[in-house]
Amino acid sequence: MNSDPFRGVKRLMRRDLLGLEGYQPIVPPEVLSEEAEVPIEGVIKLDGNENPYGCSPRVQRALADYPSYHIYPDPEQREVRRALEGYVGLGAEHIVAGSGSDELIDLVLRLFLEPGDEVINCVPTFGMYPFCTEVCGGKVVSVPRDKSYAIDIARVKEAIDEKTKIIFVASPNNPTGNLTPERDIRKLVETGRVVVVDEAYYEFSGVTVAPLVPEHDNLIVLRSLSKWAGLAGLRIGYGIFTPVIVEQLLKIKQPYNVNLAAQVAVQASLADLEYLQGTIKAIISERERLFKKLKKIKFLNPFPSKANFIFCPVVEGDAQRMHQELRKQGIFVRHFDTPLLRNSLRISVGKPEHSDALIEALQRIGGKGSG
Ligand SMILES: *Cc1c(COP(=O)(O)O)cnc(C)c1O
Repeated sequence: MNSDPFRGVKRLMRRDLLGLEGYQPIVPPEVLSEEAEVPIEGVIKLDGNENPYGCSPRVQRALADYPSYHIYPDPEQREVRRALEGYVGLGAEHIVAGSGSDELIDLVLRLFLEPGDEVINCVPTFGMYPFCTEVCGGKVVSVPRDKSYAIDIARVKEAIDEKTKIIFVASPNNPTGNLTPERDIRKLVETGRVVVVDEAYYEFSGVTVAPLVPEHDNLIVLRSLSKWAGLAGLRIGYGIFTPVIVEQLLKIKQPYNVNLAAQVAVQASLADLEYLQGTIKAIISERERLFKKLKKIKFLNPFPSKANFIFCPVVEGDAQRMHQELRKQGIFVRHFDTPLLRNSLRISVGKPEHSDALIEALQRIGGKGSG
């Protein structure tokens, strides 16, 4: 008699949401520190693709000096969008900022999806696309990538029907780190569906399709300041759109979605590009050094990356056990074991000393953990 799972206030909730799994959230450093019994300064956090060098020192100063936190931020984001113009190479009429690019994923879905509309997700990829699609009442159509994690354009085209509204493409892809070539993106754009190219790792790849946006009203490019600019905790990202989409997004978004701290931080970051480009360079060169070291470990098969992380299938031994052993030593990486990502690790690129500690730990674990 008590078998109805939708008792009490739950009976009033959206049933499609009650069945959702939810997004697998990241664990904060304080919890990691407690768990590993390592002081927080000693935690080596290589699980969130965050910037190990932090943000520009100018951001810290600008945040401390800003006088007007008691005033609401500008709903039209005039200063943020104007500050981004030069960096993006397109006018403010093409730009909308969000509370992280995650918010823009959600906003774009809200703008285009009606209940039951379909979104094509090229798996394995970033978990926010299916999560936000389902919360918006859309239907996720998963199209597997090929063996080298390239998008299978023919299969995407086959998956398109009259309900298909949006195709998501992370480039570089998370967690595999590979780019989608511009010619493939053009083929997707030719289908007439909205193609969202997520360039959260653009600064580590140097490759963008943003210049194509003015010629293609169904192409959207999303960017983030979380990774290259070290602003993950302040939540700031932006999208590049045709002005018709910008107009609608500005209308439907929460008026104060970009807070003043984030606004101040973007302006200070863009005024300190030389410094930030130095840290990007350091991360890229560390990525190549770490890749070579991982390649020498016989139980790992690292995949070449254009981002700030390296995807690492474990070819001998158990990735979950390695993940656990690393945790005990205060080194945190991402572990995957799904049908499309069997027995794998994803390792964010940290400072050289983080790589050295990781490699040493892996070698130790390898001795007793594999085989
Ligand atoms: C990290 C990440 C984001 C999220 O960026 P925020 O600006 O922090 O919301 C978006 N897309 C991909 C593929 C990511 O890996």
